[in-house]
Amino acid sequence: MITCPLCEQNYTLYSLCADCRRIRHFMSIYSKDRVIQILDNILSRTEDKQDNKVNEEIKEDIEKVKYNLRKKSEEKKT
Ligand SMILES: [Zn+2]
Repeated sequence: MITCPLCEQNYTLYSLCADCRRIRHFMSIYSKDRVIQILDNILSRTEDKQDNKVNEEIKEDIEKVKYNLRKKSEEKKT
């Protein structure tokens, strides 16, 4: 067992603990830069404004996914 190099709290047999592997998972989906950008934008806000910012940040991603799904279903029709 070693201490996780990212959070430096949990012990792990792997290179990262389970919590930090989730972060790496998000990085593999959204890219490292996008994850850092979201964290920067959200965590640098005061707490009462965070909810709005979270919604704003996620909305963009949700719209992209919706757009892609719509595009896919339209492609099937033609
Ligand atoms: Zn960790």
